[in-house]
Amino acid sequence: METNVLEHTLRKAEPIRITDGLEIGGEAIVLMAGPCSVEDDATTRAAAEAVYRAGGKVLRGGAFKPRTSPYVFQGLGLDGLRILRDAADEFGLAVITEALGIEHLEAVCEHADIIQIGSRNMQHFPLLWAVGEVDKPVLLKRGFMSTVTEWLMAAEHIASRGNERIILCERGIRTFGTETRNTLDTNAIALANLESPWPVIGDPSHATGRADLVIPAARAAIAAGADGLLVEVHPNPARALSDGDQSLPLERLVELVEEVGRVARAVGRRI
Ligand code: PEP
Ligand code: MN
Repeated sequence: METNVLEHTLRKAEPIRITDGLEIGGEAIVLMAGPCSVEDDATTRAAAEAVYRAGGKVLRGGAFKPRTSPYVFQGLGLDGLRILRDAADEFGLAVITEALGIEHLEAVCEHADIIQIGSRNMQHFPLLWAVGEVDKPVLLKRGFMSTVTEWLMAAEHIASRGNERIILCERGIRTFGTETRNTLDTNAIALANLESPWPVIGDPSHATGRADLVIPAARAAIAAGADGLLVEVHPNPARALSDGDQSLPLERLVELVEEVGRVARAVGRRI
């Protein structure tokens, strides 16, 4: 009989190690935050400081960006990776950044602690196989038009090559509504938690597309059982080179942590 899942050596009870002293899937909710794109030293450093002060543990920022249009900012590439790493190191944060293609994987592994696979690449199987052979945790975003089963099978493609340090990320799916960029699928957070051995986090920024909905969506993700959050923040959202509409100003990160903290405690977690 054909089997389509591994006998996982990993169980829900075992959190995933990110770096020494930092794990995800335990009692503590892990906050990952930063700009959508790495833009320059100053904005990245300011974001890193705000993430650190709010109690966040991981700095995010894209250096290779999957933009809908090829005529807009595409990311700083290798320079972006260096800027992100330096800013994170200054504040003792881990780094998450997207590997857009196999050709970027070596450089991303050199600079990052978590490799992000973007929504548009969720079923880019050769990329999944490649990160399956790497000794770093992989954050697998759900394709915005993918079912939960397709998402979990994409994770299996990674695990099948040996890397079981996978973090699932629900980042909103396309629905008929046009008022928000996407729809946060809290069902999917609960279901992936039930049916996979991996931690699940929520991305309230891409899920809503609106800064004023990010905190309520973050609360909902945690209430549904998310083990962490991936949030876009920017020192001056109106001037951000990508995703400014959904980026929280830095000073609101503390408010997010307070609001989410209350929900976390209600469901037996902490942040
Ligand atoms: C991002 O995190 O900035 C990003 C491009 O996300 P997604 O792949 O979910 O669109
Ligand atoms: Mn973004």
